[in-house]
Amino acid sequence: MSTLTAGRDAQALHRAAAPDYFGWLEHTRAAGGCTRPIRLTGTLTAVEPGTGRVLAEQHTDELPDGTLYKACGNRRAAQCPDCAWVYAGDAFQVVRCGLTGGKTIPATVSAHPVVFATFTAPSFGPVHHRHIPRHTCATRRRCDCRPAPCRARSTAAGTCPHGRPAACFTRHDAEDPQLGRPLCLDCYDHDHQAVWNYSSGELWRRTKQAIERHLTAVCRRRGISHVQVVADSGRIRRVPPVRVSHGKAAEMQRRGAVHFHVLLRLDGVDPHDRHALVPPPAGLTVDDLDAAVHAATRQITVTTPPHPDRPQGWPVAWGEQVDVRRIGTSDGDVTDAKVAAYLAKYATKSTEVTGYCSTRLTPDTVDAYADPEGDHLARLIDACWRLGRPTRHHTTRTARKTEARQGDLDPTPNEYAGLRRWAHMLGYGGHFLTKARRYSVTFGLLRDTRAAYRRTEHADTADSDNAAGTVTVGTLAFVGSGWLTDGDALLAHTAAAQRRERQRVGREELAHEAWSGVAA
Ligand SMILES: [Zn+2]
Ligand SMILES: [Zn+2]
Ligand SMILES: [Zn+2]
Ligand SMILES: [Zn+2]
Repeated sequence: MSTLTAGRDAQALHRAAAPDYFGWLEHTRAAGGCTRPIRLTGTLTAVEPGTGRVLAEQHTDELPDGTLYKACGNRRAAQCPDCAWVYAGDAFQVVRCGLTGGKTIPATVSAHPVVFATFTAPSFGPVHHRHIPRHTCATRRRCDCRPAPCRARSTAAGTCPHGRPAACFTRHDAEDPQLGRPLCLDCYDHDHQAVWNYSSGELWRRTKQAIERHLTAVCRRRGISHVQVVADSGRIRRVPPVRVSHGKAAEMQRRGAVHFHVLLRLDGVDPHDRHALVPPPAGLTVDDLDAAVHAATRQITVTTPPHPDRPQGWPVAWGEQVDVRRIGTSDGDVTDAKVAAYLAKYATKSTEVTGYCSTRLTPDTVDAYADPEGDHLARLIDACWRLGRPTRHHTTRTARKTEARQGDLDPTPNEYAGLRRWAHMLGYGGHFLTKARRYSVTFGLLRDTRAAYRRTEHADTADSDNAAGTVTVGTLAFVGSGWLTDGDALLAHTAAAQRRERQRVGREELAHEAWSGVAA
């Protein structure tokens, strides 16, 4: 036994032998599996809703360890597996409810036309890749088919301007670290990829608008008229009779470009309640949605603002392949549970697949990762940092204009400044799971449900002041993060793992029913 684990075990024994051990375990339960819980001190006040009457007050000094433990809530499986697991469960439910209804979403959504589309980034230079032209395996999960040669060329003698081979005949296996790495680092356009990642959110936004425009045009051609709704201002507006709600996950590919997996659902408009979720007009089908997605994907290109390194900006468009599938059709094997599980999986991932993972970079830490002459990832991070540099000391728009008039400043602000902020994400600044407001329930609703469940579950053991129907407000201060000792972490994690195991089995069993990570 190493001295490290010996110390930890001694701490654990000491804690477990203390008279208040089970009270401590219960007290830390909500944060039990968390890697680095937040520790808070202060006063907790139970208030009667409506009257605001204070029913009870407690200082955290009276609690075990004199602190309140709160789970860190990190969504990244690489940072806190347990908090990410809770988040993935919520993500599954959010996505699933948008397809089948449930938890305030009407069950009628299951009849709306839906497609599941994958939007990819274009090529920024050839990379090593693995592809299987024809699968002969029984199940993809245990695929043992032979991949094709990576980049075979009939003119095998070809080299790039840097004298490197332009072909690769290797049949890469699935774990080959070469996958996603450029054939020639000097030919590869790292700047373009960094900017593409950075602008992909805007590209998506405009693509979705274009999809809706296409569908509106279809309505017009078929004589489906606009709907009159009352806006918040009270004015009557005519709006298109159809809209698209989406749930979307970003996946980082091995080459370090993001792509998006998106559920797109056709919704209608209720003239009496513009927030209501109603079926789309009859006469619009999944074929129309499919066609609109394909048309918009081909059509939309964003040209980014000028940059001193490239005054004409960069073109940002989707790659050649857009994959559009239907859900729940008889021929397809894509079910709503599978799609929801798929999106939930990506919701807790970040850049890990590229082999790189770090927190936000600063001028002090960037040199450890960025290198214009380095490997693929070092060059991508360098591109983010270099393109995001302050081009001039512009403070306000007026100051910029004044200085520009005086002729000593480029009047364009650096629209790329955010690339530095997102350099650790290889330029991508968006969330890994997003949804349209109308698509489904909110994460907040699921969290509140869980908190209410925890309160009622404990109501019989806790004092009556803590029962449902009261609101607890805290004046709490942050005292630190992490467990007090490694022994505490061990005990709390073990207890949490046992609880999780029961839920994990439940999750798998319920994959085809309304799956419930929280008690409904
Ligand atoms: Zn955590
Ligand atoms: Zn290769
Ligand atoms: Zn196969
Ligand atoms: Zn080259």
